[in-house]
Amino acid sequence: MSVIDEIKGRLDIVEVISAYVPLQKAGRNYKALCPFHAEKTPSFVVFPETQHWHCFGACSEGGDVFSFLMKQEGWDFKTTLEELARRTGVELKPRSSVQAQRDEETSRLYQLLDAAAQYFHHLLQQAPEAEAARHYMESRGLNADTVDRFTLGYSPATWDRTRTYLLQQGYSVEEMIHAGMLVEKEERASTYDRFRDRLMIPIRDARGRVTGFGARTLDPHGIPKYLNSPQTKVFDKSRTLFGLDAARKAIRRQDQAVIVEGYMDVMQAHQAGFENVVAEMGTALTEHQIRAIQHLTKRIVLALDPDTAGIQATLRGVQVAS
Ligand code: ZN
Repeated sequence: MSVIDEIKGRLDIVEVISAYVPLQKAGRNYKALCPFHAEKTPSFVVFPETQHWHCFGACSEGGDVFSFLMKQEGWDFKTTLEELARRTGVELKPRSSVQAQRDEETSRLYQLLDAAAQYFHHLLQQAPEAEAARHYMESRGLNADTVDRFTLGYSPATWDRTRTYLLQQGYSVEEMIHAGMLVEKEERASTYDRFRDRLMIPIRDARGRVTGFGARTLDPHGIPKYLNSPQTKVFDKSRTLFGLDAARKAIRRQDQAVIVEGYMDVMQAHQAGFENVVAEMGTALTEHQIRAIQHLTKRIVLALDPDTAGIQATLRGVQVAS
């Protein structure tokens, strides 16, 4: 049996689709308003017996649980396969023990970064010392819903509080260094928190996993204005588009992606209802970044600042995209 058949055998398409679309029983099948086009009478049908779906309306498209998730989530096939394998507990390939250990280390990094993001988020919402950060959010017009949606946070103004928290959560200093959360002084003699007294913006990959942080200073004279995570095993600026996990569905639905320059622009756009907006990471647009959205849409709009660097970045971007 192929891995795909094995995964399908462990899933019920009705259950998977009903997590996204309210299904109504209609004889042996289920009906709903099609999630992929606007309609008033349901023409989207799920067939439990064959484990297929079909839209008899404007889309006149259909398929299996894989094609549904690819369309609905905007995932490529590989991501869908990995995600469904994870959900169903199907092993994709026999892993060597070295590979298994490497995977375990990587997954610990994701967990560590997520734990840090949740910690910062909690501080931003609760801690008295995060008052300036909360004030800054307000001054930029970001509301509570956006703060939640992007899990914005606040990193404490000390050299070791984040480290202490993560140690208590069971992560080692070594892991924190690998995740980019700690800076090493003098050949590992000691370490200190990289992010201090900053507004913390978690950066996520297309699957929504936290891979690093953008951190904005709250001091009007603070330098640098933005401090990013360093390159790590899970974070590579040149392959990352900020907001892609939140924008994926809208990009596919509207068949258009807008690339802007900064984190704030993305969050403000999403808050205003423009959810197909992502940001480059402060470097010139790369081929990897374009490729990350090309399977969602071929229509990419570059909305970068009209300063010299911006124009040059745009031109480079166009060359990459054409
Ligand atoms: Zn349809």
